[in-house]
Amino acid sequence: MHEDHDHHHDHGHHHHDGHDHHHDNHYSDMQARVRALETVLTEKGLIDPKAIDAIVETYQNKVGPRNGAHVVAKAWSDLEFRDWLKRDATAAIASLGYTGRQGEHMRAVFNTEDTHNLVVCTLCSCYPWAVLGLPPTWYKAPAYRSRAVIDPRGVLAEFGLTLSETKKIRVWDSTAELRYLVIPERPEGTDGMSEEELSALVSRDAMIGTAIAGHGSTGDGH
Ligand code: FE
Repeated sequence: MHEDHDHHHDHGHHHHDGHDHHHDNHYSDMQARVRALETVLTEKGLIDPKAIDAIVETYQNKVGPRNGAHVVAKAWSDLEFRDWLKRDATAAIASLGYTGRQGEHMRAVFNTEDTHNLVVCTLCSCYPWAVLGLPPTWYKAPAYRSRAVIDPRGVLAEFGLTLSETKKIRVWDSTAELRYLVIPERPEGTDGMSEEELSALVSRDAMIGTAIAGHGSTGDGH
């Protein structure tokens, strides 16, 4: 595979340069092919590039994160799976068929009454793509990457999430070797819901930690 480092440079936390580790690079072949196809089809008047943008947008916000939502819904409804996820998230998540192609490890971080978890990659854009799909643009933006660490409460407020002052916020810095999935708290009034109904309450942002789970939260862009 030919790697195209169009935006990933000087990663202090990515030590193994010979090792094919960077998730974004795994899309570069595919992206190149998609771009070539898009050009041809647009020139022939067969597609509208806006339609392609809409598809990418759908994948980012809706299709990709459904894997993670399945993991969360199962963690809410199956205690044994929840324990497994705590002990060995990589294996528990792989048991549902979601695996990282480059063998990075997953860690699930659980929101509780006392603690809210927030995920960032301060140096670039490491992201648990096997469970969340492609990272949103803001996740890769320098403003989010720096401010999530310095002022997580302020960042969350900008996402419309105001947490109680007594709630602790833990910020997890992703690396090429270790990616985090936030397991939000199960919303009230959801007893008796099926896994499928539960997973519809879990948005991408809730699994990054910039939102919480609840009604009407699926597919939120930002
Ligand atoms: Fe990164």
